[in-house]
Amino acid sequence: MAKRDYYEVLGVSKSASPEEIKKAYRKLAIQYHPDKNPDNPEAEDKFKEAAEAYEVLSNPEKRQRYDQFGHQGVGGSGGYGGAGMNMEDIFSQFGDIFGGGGFGSFFGGGGGGRRARKGTNLRVKLKLNLQEIANGVEKKIKVKRHVIAPGVTFKSCTTCQGTGQIKKVVNTMLGQMVSASTCAVCGGSGQIVDKKPAEADSKGLIVKEEIISINIPGGVSEGMQLSMSGKGNEIPGGIPGDLLIVIEEVEDQILQRDGNNVVYDLYISFLDAALGSSVEVPTIDGKVKIKIDPGTQSGKMLRLKGKGIKDINGYSKGDQLIMVNVWTPTQLSKEERQALEAMKGSENFKPDPGKFEKSFFDKMKEFF
Ligand SMILES: [Zn+2]
Repeated sequence: MAKRDYYEVLGVSKSASPEEIKKAYRKLAIQYHPDKNPDNPEAEDKFKEAAEAYEVLSNPEKRQRYDQFGHQGVGGSGGYGGAGMNMEDIFSQFGDIFGGGGFGSFFGGGGGGRRARKGTNLRVKLKLNLQEIANGVEKKIKVKRHVIAPGVTFKSCTTCQGTGQIKKVVNTMLGQMVSASTCAVCGGSGQIVDKKPAEADSKGLIVKEEIISINIPGGVSEGMQLSMSGKGNEIPGGIPGDLLIVIEEVEDQILQRDGNNVVYDLYISFLDAALGSSVEVPTIDGKVKIKIDPGTQSGKMLRLKGKGIKDINGYSKGDQLIMVNVWTPTQLSKEERQALEAMKGSENFKPDPGKFEKSFFDKMKEFF
């Protein structure tokens, strides 16, 4: 079966806001939830399809890739392919969608047993300057994580006999019905603390400060979220949560980012513009000398190839664009005034833009 478009799956437009996407997914997740549709493979497929669409569209980075490359862009390494997302992944996602209680409590405990137990995610903000964004950087991040204290031992939960669930048999007119809910004593893990050091809490956890090293790829942008799986909070009897790193761009004072290009405003004197010159311009990797041809017009754009920002999806690099501005003197000495007045009559000083200059918009088309 051909894969359906993710936007179509969630029934939202391509320009849908994160909030709209979340809302649409929440609706579908409730509609096709396995607890509501027992033994209905079609509903299960729809449930998985919606979860996969949400997994991609809720992540700005993956969404951008999907918009650009379609299913190809998000299929490969990440494992979001149809078969890649199992029920445990899907249920672990629900903490974010339905709030701290997770899906189980949302349905009155129904889905509890099926959920993979996962520690909570940690979220940190990371400020990066233009140099770091352009080339990628290795950063060390200090985090405080809940980890299982050394020396803690666990034993099977006596309340649920290690199953993590409490089953209740209810007599109804239709006969006996069994309802299952998450064990409140062990929280569904099936195990409780046996022995623990004094500093650990009742779940056997301590807060530990850790320095985590992360490689940030070049080309990230504001609001992007990188995920380090398993570096979040640990949980007894489950898998640790993730560490989510949210990128914050620190604006550069001199170079402006425009996608993968950087733009620099260069000011030259009208003498340099007329006579030609050689000037130094700042780039991400330090200063570079460039040549100004005699007769350079204000508004000309020069390009330094490969001096921009790495592409997050590939190996290419953006360029640095230099916008040439000719500076007109705002005050003149008596001698300067006289010298210029003497040249005023010259034909060469008369503007004649039609001759060489393309319009501003033609130039923009050429460059972007
Ligand atoms: Zn228990």
